[in-house]
Amino acid sequence: MPANLSFDALKAAVAAGEIDTVVTCIVDMQGRLMGKRFHAQHFLDSAHEETHCCNYLLATDMEMVTVPGYKATGWEAGYGDYVMKPDLATLRRIPWAAGTALVMCDVLDHHSHKPVPHAPRSILKAQVDRARAMGFDVMMATELEFFLFEESFAGLFDSGYRQMTPMARHNVDYSIWGTSRDEPVMRDIRCKLWDAGIPIECSKGEADAGQEEVNARYSDALDTADMHALIKLGCKQIADQHGASVTFMAKYHHSKAGSSSHVHQSLWKDGKPAFRDDADAHGMSDLMKHYMAGQLAHAAEITYFLAPYVNSYKRFVVGMFAPTKAVWSLDNRTAGFRVCGEGTKAVRVECRIGGADLNPYLACAALLAAGLDGIDKKMALEPAISGDIYQAGNVREIPRTLGAAAAALHGSAMLRAAFGDDVVEHYHHAAQWELSEQNRVVTDWELARSFDRA
Ligand code: ADP
Repeated sequence: MPANLSFDALKAAVAAGEIDTVVTCIVDMQGRLMGKRFHAQHFLDSAHEETHCCNYLLATDMEMVTVPGYKATGWEAGYGDYVMKPDLATLRRIPWAAGTALVMCDVLDHHSHKPVPHAPRSILKAQVDRARAMGFDVMMATELEFFLFEESFAGLFDSGYRQMTPMARHNVDYSIWGTSRDEPVMRDIRCKLWDAGIPIECSKGEADAGQEEVNARYSDALDTADMHALIKLGCKQIADQHGASVTFMAKYHHSKAGSSSHVHQSLWKDGKPAFRDDADAHGMSDLMKHYMAGQLAHAAEITYFLAPYVNSYKRFVVGMFAPTKAVWSLDNRTAGFRVCGEGTKAVRVECRIGGADLNPYLACAALLAAGLDGIDKKMALEPAISGDIYQAGNVREIPRTLGAAAAALHGSAMLRAAFGDDVVEHYHHAAQWELSEQNRVVTDWELARSFDRA
C-alpha cells in the first residue's frame, strides 16, 4: 500500500502552509527511526534527492555506544557518512506532529551509492526481491503488544523506573471495561495512525495490567516493516502527549506477561493467495508447507532476529502465551508457528516467537529467507503437534538464551547464503556485544539478592 502523500501533494501542502517540517528517517539496527527534521521547503528544494548521516548509526547499541570491532565502521575508519536516500513512495503526513510529514530513507554507501548490505531496510528489500524473482509477492502483518503506564517517559527515566503504574490495574485481555482508562490514548493512537496512512484494524487489551495490542492490516513485507517502525514511534509520541508512556520491551518485569510481535505471513502469485489449496485437508498448498518446513528447519538460526536482546529470552516462559517450542500447530497458541485462517483464502502462518522488541525488517527478512529456502529445497513439512505444546517432550525448542541464538546465527549456512557473510558477522557482533555488556554490568537483582546476605 502506498503512503498517503505524493511529492506533488507535499508541494501543495507546503505552499498552503499546512506542512513546514519533513522528517527523514533511516532504520537502525534496533528498528528505530533515526534521521533529521528538515524545513519542508529545503526538503522540496534539495534534500528529497539525498541527505547524509554518520555511519555509526548502524554500529551502535541501544544506548548509542560506539561499539568497537565492527568491520563496517569504527573510530579507525573515522566514522564517515552514509547517504540517506528518501523513498518518496513512503511519504506520509504525521497527524500527531503539527505541520509534519515523514519519509523513510534507504541507506546507501557514500561513495558507490549502492545499498549498504547490513542496513535493515536493504536486508528486507533483498529478500523481497528474491521472492519476487521466484514469482511471489510477500504479504506480512506484525502484531505489536506493549504496556501503557500512567507516568511520563521523563518521569520514569528520572525515577530509575521505580514507580511504574500500569494504566489498567489488572489483566484486561479483551476487556472493554478494563481498557476504558487506556482509551483516550489508544483512540488517539488508532485514529492518528490511520490518518498517517496506516490501516489500523483494531487495538485490544492484552493479558496483563496495562498491556495493549495494536494491529494493522497486512501489506507487502516492506510496507509492513515501515508501518511497524512508525507505529512504535506513533505510540511513543502520542502516549507522551498524554503525559503517559509505553514500553516495547519483551519483558519489563519477570512477574508480568511478555510483549510479542507475532508475524503473519503469506505468499501471493498474480494477486491470488498462493498458500491456499482447497483440495488439501487444511486448505494449505504444497508451497505453504515447504515455506513452513523451511522456517521450522531454520528456527534456531533465525531466532536472533526475533529475539535480539538478553531480555528477549525472559519472555519464553511456560503458560504465558509466549511459545517455548519451534513446532507448528493448527490454531494453537502454544506453538511457535500457528496456522491461521485454515481452509480460507486468508490461510497463513503466524510466527509467534518474536517479541515486541524485534526489528521488523530483520525479523521479516529472516523469516522470509528461511521460508524461501524451504521452497527452494522442497522441504517436507513435519506433522503438526496438538494439545498443550509447552508439555510436549522431544520436540524442537526455541533457543533459551541470546548466546545460543547467536551461535545458531553464526553457524547458519542458510543465512550466510541469503544475507551474505558480512551481514551475519555484523549482527553476530551485535549479539556478542550485548552479551559482554550483560556480563559486565552489575544488576539490581544481584544487589538485592546479595548485598546483606552474601
Ligand atoms: P488473530 O486470530 O491472530 O487475532 P487476526 O484476524 O486479528 O488474527 O489477524 C492478525 C493479522 O493477520 C492482521 O494484522 C491481519 O491483517 C493479518 N492477516 C490477515 N490475512 C493475512 C494474510 N493472508 N497474510 C498475512 N497476514 C494476514
